[in-house]
Amino acid sequence: MSNNVLVIAEQRGGTLKKVTFELLTAAQQVAGKWGGQVDAVVLGAGVRALAELLAQAGAAKVYVADDPALARYSPDGYAGVLANLVRRVEPAVVLVSATFWGKDLAPRVAAKVKAGLASDATGIEGQDGGRLLVTRPIYAGKAIAKVRINTTPQMVSLRPNSYPPAALEAGRAANVEAVVLDGYQPQAVVTDFVKAGGEKLDVAEANIIVSGGRGMGGSEQYAILEELASVLGAAVGASRAAVDAGWRPHSDQVGQTGKTVSPNLYIACGISGAIQHLAGMKTSKVIVAINKDPDAPIFKVADYGIVGDLFKVVPLFTEEVKKLKAAE
Ligand code: FAD
Repeated sequence: MSNNVLVIAEQRGGTLKKVTFELLTAAQQVAGKWGGQVDAVVLGAGVRALAELLAQAGAAKVYVADDPALARYSPDGYAGVLANLVRRVEPAVVLVSATFWGKDLAPRVAAKVKAGLASDATGIEGQDGGRLLVTRPIYAGKAIAKVRINTTPQMVSLRPNSYPPAALEAGRAANVEAVVLDGYQPQAVVTDFVKAGGEKLDVAEANIIVSGGRGMGGSEQYAILEELASVLGAAVGASRAAVDAGWRPHSDQVGQTGKTVSPNLYIACGISGAIQHLAGMKTSKVIVAINKDPDAPIFKVADYGIVGDLFKVVPLFTEEVKKLKAAE
């Protein structure tokens, strides 16, 4: 067993997801403490060039499983390739993203290599003795658990936006090793990805989210949130009430039955703050709530609260941000 940390890189269409660079930051912190190195593995077809980026972001060794058979994600196929690699290189820790993709993949790999998995974590601490102390929100965000994993390797899936992305350093190179597929015969492959919402920024990955709830009153009214979001470079999210009303697509829904987000800034407009909504956004770094009801539960978790009519507050807010941006 080594002291190394293996990061499972998430890519889509040959582009690495931002969360991969966040995993690399977390991996550096743990490996740095233990004197180990950070390695990465990437799977797909035509993904060889991504090794260079992973190296620039701090991976000392990059395993590349590049094969036309891996063009489409296969739950058991990908998990099999990764489990073989983990058994062979024996990392101390395996990190994977807690995205839809990572949440599907991580338990399969963990089961195959008999690793304990702390899922949907928001923080990782490498402790003396080679054990991790992992922070996980539980009970829909009402409590925080500190988890220690007793197996080797230790596996963690990490929520997007929990760590800053690793900076790229041009000229940093890695030792690249091709992973040979041995009898790859997946039982199922994903045949197609249908992109919800076109090219717009995904709430699960956004640094800033402007979210609207039932208080928006209808789909057309979201135009004021879209405008604020475009000025801030933010994604637009929604509560379930807004999604159920058909005002926004389900891919925008934040909460227990939607996406879990941890942006630097979450602006909740016309959202009451039901526990199921809080479950998806409570770990946001800064929360701003705009609500006309001073007793709305959202104010209990908000860092900044504005009691008022969102149709008056949001346009003013947008104008102020525009002025600040213009003065920059
Ligand atoms: P409301 O609770 O109706 O709140 C609307 C708010 O808008 C009010 O606080 C009101 O004061 C304010 N408002 C109205 N007009 C204005 C105005 N002009 N200016 C300012 N403020 C205004 N919910 C989620 O969001 N995500 C989930 O994933 C989710 N999963 C669930 C899973 C289960 C099993 C269950 C049972 C429920 C789930 N819910 C989820 C639903 C959740 O319980 C709430 O019903 C929902 O979050 C309410 O959405 P809302 O805050 O937009 O609406």
